[in-house]
Amino acid sequence: TPALDVAGIRAQFPILERQVHGRPLIYFDNAATSQTPLCVIDTFRDYYSRYNANIHRGLHTLADEATAAYEATRETVRAFLNAADRREIVFTRGTTEAINLVANSWGRANLQPGDEVLVSLLEHHSNIVPWQLLADQLGIVVKVIPVDERGVLDLDAYRALFNERTRLVAVNHVSNAFGTINPVRELATIAHGHGARILIDGAQATPHQTVDVRDIDADFYAFSGHKVYGPTGAGVLYGKAELLEAMPPWQGGGEMIKSVSFDVPTTFADIPHKFEAGTPAIAEVIALGVALDWVSDVGLARIGTWEAELLARATAGVSRIDGLRLLGTAPDKAGVLSFVVDGAHSQDIALLIDQLGVAIRTGNHCAQPLLARFGVDATCRASFAVYNTPEEVDAFVAALERVIGMVR
Ligand code: PMP
Repeated sequence: TPALDVAGIRAQFPILERQVHGRPLIYFDNAATSQTPLCVIDTFRDYYSRYNANIHRGLHTLADEATAAYEATRETVRAFLNAADRREIVFTRGTTEAINLVANSWGRANLQPGDEVLVSLLEHHSNIVPWQLLADQLGIVVKVIPVDERGVLDLDAYRALFNERTRLVAVNHVSNAFGTINPVRELATIAHGHGARILIDGAQATPHQTVDVRDIDADFYAFSGHKVYGPTGAGVLYGKAELLEAMPPWQGGGEMIKSVSFDVPTTFADIPHKFEAGTPAIAEVIALGVALDWVSDVGLARIGTWEAELLARATAGVSRIDGLRLLGTAPDKAGVLSFVVDGAHSQDIALLIDQLGVAIRTGNHCAQPLLARFGVDATCRASFAVYNTPEEVDAFVAALERVIGMVR
């Protein structure tokens, strides 16, 4: 495969031309949200200029065009995840809403008091709190899969957590805080061997690697558009058709019904529409489809290779800094460099490095239990995307050294 044309890619991201505090922007907060290429931005102008209309209900040209574009995205997502059937693709606002959908629909229909859900210590709060809420409301038990010193899931401990009450495993594919890539296919095989289902939070995997939900044998798989070069407000829940079909709706309203009556029971639409109550984020969903096509054109394998080089370069660069400790040293990592520095508050580092034009993230990364395990309440996190360059990595390392010199 030909090498990545990073200059050509950068030219498609207008935001990369801007300056921050008089310096060229170096955007290393891609794990929080990625930037959008022109083709995605243009989708909004095109939609609102030409065919803005509510979907699925009109009998007029604009409504037909909007519906066709929205439903075409379902096919784009199906292909992107290699799902068997486009009815298995539910549009949500993002990963958080997708997980809450599973918790509230599948969870309430399938979990009894005393049933157990396994989550990992690597989870984002969005894959912890929905299960804790169910624990309060239904009396289920949430158990935690531990990690080792590198931030790698302990598979022996995972196997040992199963018993006859285990119903669901909820784990991420890639950790947003450390970048650990989890062996999701193996986790799924083990879960299924115990008769449990598995939900995979793919928010941090979809930007960096090809995902095949059938190869993984995922029961549910969630991701957010805004981390895959798409807009905010549109995300996806994949669910196996037989599971979605058996699940009750979780939100009621227009679009999700077959017929509504006060005299006989209201009946619901077929999947996936049963789970898409109300007017969705139509332009955002269409733009998500454009983003996924863009990513597929660039090639996820090529993106993954490029980002791995950036990560290796950054890891080597910061490792030379005295008193800097990396968190998350798994052999399999994607896109994320998390660290703390002796004698320097993470927040000070992030604020000062912003003055030099570098955007990184600091804080708990919505993974407080994981950080607590490593004895910290915040880290600095640099995270990479396809448009980042080795020159930016070098500039970041130099800026970091300068900032640490200032605060120490
Ligand atoms: N899971 C992971 C691993 C994430 O990184 C994020 C976003 N930081 C989420 C879930 C939540 O995604 P969203 O806010 O788009 O719903």
